[in-house]
Amino acid sequence: MVIEYMGDILRAEVAMGKELQYKAKNRPAYMFRIDSERVIDATRSGSPARYINHSCSPNCVAEVVTFERGHKIIISAARRIDRGEELCYDYKLTPVADQSKIPCHCGAANCRKWIN
Ligand SMILES: [Zn+2]
Repeated sequence: MVIEYMGDILRAEVAMGKELQYKAKNRPAYMFRIDSERVIDATRSGSPARYINHSCSPNCVAEVVTFERGHKIIISAARRIDRGEELCYDYKLTPVADQSKIPCHCGAANCRKWIN
């Protein structure tokens, strides 16, 4: 385990509203979708895990771990990570029909060119 992705767990509808509020304030939103109903909002009270970038060839993996009283997002090493190496994981964003594509700049040989 490297770090837990921490933040406020919100219902998906509430998270969408919050994201619009952050956009209106020109503030970046840091969110992680647990499933179709829940999202972790790390914008205001998250751990440093919110700053981990996407890569198509990641050195970490993000896993949803279910406990009796809820869920946690755990970022774990997928391979040996050298000192000073940037942490990254595959965001695995699903394309949404009315959403524009987000270009990927990870630089990996197998880069998919788009994050979603
Ligand atoms: Zn890429």
